[in-house]
Amino acid sequence: MPATARSTLETYDAVIAGGGHNGLVCAAYLARAGLRVKVLERRHIVGGAAVTEEFHPGFRNSICSYTVGLLNPKVIADLDLHGHGLHIVERPVMNFLPVSDDRYLLTGNGRTKGEIAKFSPRDAERYDDYCAHLERIADVLRALVLKPPPNITAGFTVSTLRELARTATLGKHLSRLGLDGQQDLLDLFTLSAADFLDRWFESEPIKALLGFDSIVGTYASPFDPGTAYVLLHHAFGEINGKKGAWGHAIGGMGAISDAIAKDARAHGADIETGAQIVEVIMESGRTAGVALADGTIVKGRAVAANMTLKRLYTELLPKTAVPPEFLARMERFKYGSGTFRMNVALSRLPDFKCLPGERDHLGAGIIIAPSLNYMHRAYTDAREQGWSREPIVEMLIPSTIDWTLAPPGAHVASLFCQHVAPTLPGGRSWDEAREDVADLMIATVDRAAPGFAESVLGRQVLSPLDLEHEFGLTGGDIFHGQLSLNQLFSARPALGYAAYCGPIEGLYHCGSGAHPGGGVTGAPGHNAARAILRDLKPFSFLS
Ligand SMILES: Cc1cc2nc3c(=O)[nH]c(=O)nc-3n(C[C@H](O)[C@H](O)[C@H](O)COP(=O)(O)OP(=O)(O)OC[C@H]3O[C@@H](n4cnc5c(N)ncnc54)[C@H](O)[C@@H]3O)c2cc1C
Repeated sequence: MPATARSTLETYDAVIAGGGHNGLVCAAYLARAGLRVKVLERRHIVGGAAVTEEFHPGFRNSICSYTVGLLNPKVIADLDLHGHGLHIVERPVMNFLPVSDDRYLLTGNGRTKGEIAKFSPRDAERYDDYCAHLERIADVLRALVLKPPPNITAGFTVSTLRELARTATLGKHLSRLGLDGQQDLLDLFTLSAADFLDRWFESEPIKALLGFDSIVGTYASPFDPGTAYVLLHHAFGEINGKKGAWGHAIGGMGAISDAIAKDARAHGADIETGAQIVEVIMESGRTAGVALADGTIVKGRAVAANMTLKRLYTELLPKTAVPPEFLARMERFKYGSGTFRMNVALSRLPDFKCLPGERDHLGAGIIIAPSLNYMHRAYTDAREQGWSREPIVEMLIPSTIDWTLAPPGAHVASLFCQHVAPTLPGGRSWDEAREDVADLMIATVDRAAPGFAESVLGRQVLSPLDLEHEFGLTGGDIFHGQLSLNQLFSARPALGYAAYCGPIEGLYHCGSGAHPGGGVTGAPGHNAARAILRDLKPFSFLS
């Protein structure tokens, strides 16, 4: 068929535009409710940023997102993900922070307080209180993750009543915190991570270890206001019932997406890969389906967009279809994580100067960033020069507990590196800088673990530009847009559009550009399915 000829496939109740894990979650819930669902994914596999792929002969890894903690327990249970083969295990120890050639901080597995006491007995004493404090606030957020935030509406309509009810529910949850807790929550939304952590701790290593979460996927200094929220965003997870824990999906993050896809298929959803959507079709002022690059038109009563909302509204819809103020907001929506991602095939495990040998610290999230000042410098350098000579690297070696990923005796590691500029200064392209920066990341690990560079058998390098091109992540943003207060809750993606749909009838948002934002949570997919069912099948039940 010539590329321009258009053939129309059958009409579905819902077309899911993008097969990231959230698109799949949305599809699974809709299929379970009896809707006819079609998922269209442009890559050769589903999962979006939650995939496992072979990146070097014989070596597989979670090539983008690499650690599980935020996946919502209700989604896991509702979609029977364990029944579909998902097996999640906790890290044997939580984090390992090399501090100098002979000092380190190693947390988790009952040793956290003893380890913190090496640097500050006072900090060790305060640690439990800090966790309880954060946990109390994280609990409130956990309860809100699967609820649409109140959608600010103009004027007074029937939907105003629904939104008032949502505001009341939000108020009820917040009131559980008491006045003090509410003030703390406000602080977390507005303070810098450094200010927040300074209230609790005095020693640099513990502040660095905890503060790392405040700049994950966030192109900012930990001294920037708003970064305390990013820290909180990473605290509301749990695995296997253990709050705040992080772990591995056996078989990599793709095992999560595969289990969700299995559930969707088992309930009748049709999932197609290699299906690039080039246009969202409009008919009589509302969405009627999508057009694929090969000319096929797939019609649907509803279209749920899993791709970034900037891509959706600025590239896939006729400009005249989108109200100009909303279009301007989507153009301004801030993207850019400062993330550089590598996967490396290793002939042997690294040997750290500060803690030699193959012990359980190699199963931790290994953070090379010994202080908040180091992270600050990495950010300011990146702003000026594109990257820092001393970048932040988190390394995870999943093959220490998952033997499915590498040949016997060999290993795979994820290097999650920051900060790099989403776009390089002086008009330089990431295509020119990619390999130099990759060498720098390897050298950074090698300084802490001499011999590491030599052990690298193969590598996959993903600059911000690669993340955009390969995975469709606008600006390389791992969360589909920054997690700043003006882009969260009722303002995600914009005030008045927090109900999982924008201004176009029949077009819904089921990806991380909607509340509660990025991470492998399944939450936007769950919440979008609820919104779609409310409109398409008002009497169906989605608890
Ligand atoms: C490098 C990196 C590291 C991360 N680490 C972690 C981590 O360890 N833990 C964690 O919880 N989160 C992590 N994240 C964040 C998390 O992975 C993402 O926020 C989440 O996976 C996004 O899911 P999604 O389904 O909303 O969107 P996506 O995964 O982005 O899925 C969108 C899908 O839409 C498809 N698509 C786009 N355009 C089109 C089109 N025109 N036609 C058809 N299909 C299209 C894309 O190919 C993609 O499959 C990381 C992300 C990255 C990039």
